Amino acid sequence: MIWNPNKECMPLEQMRTLQGKRLHKIVSYVYHNVPFYRNKLQEMDITPDDITSIDDIVKLPYTTKQDLRDNYPFGLQAAPQSEIIRIHASSGTTGNPTIVGYSRKDIGVWSECMARCLTAYGITRDDTMSIAYGYGLFTGGLGAHYGVETLGAAAVPVSTGNTEKHIRLLKDLGVTGIACTPSYALHLAETMEKLGIDKSTLKLRSGAFGAEPWTENMRHEIEERLGLKAYNLYGLSEIMGPCVSYECSEQSGSHVNEDHFFPEIIDPDTLEPLPLGQTGELVFTTLTKEGMPLLRYRTRDLCCLYREECACGRTSVKMGRILGRTDDMLIIRGINVFPSQVESVILSMPECAPRYLLVVDRVNNLDTLTVQVEVRQEYFAQGFDTFEPIFKLERDLAAKLRSVLSINAKVEVKQPGTLERSMGKSKFVIDKRQLK
Ligand code: ADP
Ligand code: ZN
Repeated sequence: MIWNPNKECMPLEQMRTLQGKRLHKIVSYVYHNVPFYRNKLQEMDITPDDITSIDDIVKLPYTTKQDLRDNYPFGLQAAPQSEIIRIHASSGTTGNPTIVGYSRKDIGVWSECMARCLTAYGITRDDTMSIAYGYGLFTGGLGAHYGVETLGAAAVPVSTGNTEKHIRLLKDLGVTGIACTPSYALHLAETMEKLGIDKSTLKLRSGAFGAEPWTENMRHEIEERLGLKAYNLYGLSEIMGPCVSYECSEQSGSHVNEDHFFPEIIDPDTLEPLPLGQTGELVFTTLTKEGMPLLRYRTRDLCCLYREECACGRTSVKMGRILGRTDDMLIIRGINVFPSQVESVILSMPECAPRYLLVVDRVNNLDTLTVQVEVRQEYFAQGFDTFEPIFKLERDLAAKLRSVLSINAKVEVKQPGTLERSMGKSKFVIDKRQLK
């Protein structure tokens, strides 16, 4: 089944014409409504009339996460506040979070694109789908939720957290679909096994998994242990949220909703666009967004784009799995964490030396973060060589990390000089999660 064959199976030339028209319109819209873009375009001597086809996209400036931070909170918003009906915020930025405002039309486009994804995963009106992405500022929960309702399936908004209760609901309600992070899916499987609940007592058959990188091995494991087909779902809040691209029955690459989100791959160093098939940084232009449209937004995600005749019948461009990032962003239990953020929390504690190591691991399929940090010599000399002040510092730092970054970390305070010194570039992060 295809939710919107008219768009998802549109012949390439027709799609490019549509994209060109929409690009002209969106450039004109931001030119007249967002001083940031007007200034940029004027500096480059470009007017909306210079953009007549989708090929003209290469003339446009890039937008970066830093631009969003610099214009916090509403500087890049194009629609007047009266048109905004929802605001999400992305976690994990140094300093300012990223604020994204949505108009009623944006929420409609998001819901439709999400319904396209779910339909590709085989979900229909007859399904009951539990949504175990976080509900809140994070786009995962509400994004998937609106898609399920738009499609006409029944949404069970379990959110994250109470895994045992969730399993009970899966069983009692005969839930057939699930949306969550792939690592949470494995945690769910593990908890079921611990509770002695066999997958055959559940009716799960399809899962929408995303918000973090995962691998084919994880897919096989999830499919095997939960007894369902596991599909990839990709998105980012700056562009919309989950729904930007989705796997189909072929489970090889994800179709991009390219009538709304135009993708490009660029070389992250030279910023030159790369041809289809080459790996580089993924860039998106929102073609229809009203709240906060973005031109050539650099996602920092590394992957490739390609076109192929897909057996599912969709003609849209496909993207491969995310192979990494151009920055050092970590995703820990679905929360974006930059090492620099952890560093600034550490350095806000006068007792801590600027010597730390973040150890990321996956235990029982849940990500863990251990922050090892050295106490400053002068504090060590003044009583920090005993347990009590060390324990207190560990508790205080953990509490601060929780309140500032919303992450639960185990803190280990070390004696001065005990963390390994390297000759070359210092290593601040060890990621032990095996994603290969
Ligand atoms: P969201 O709230 O939709 O997760 P964020 O802005 O918090 O959006 O995070 C988006 C980032 O999460 C992406 O840029 C990408 O790095 C990662 N991500 C999301 N979905 C996937 C996926 N299916 N595979 C790999 N990485 C993903
Ligand atoms: Zn397909």
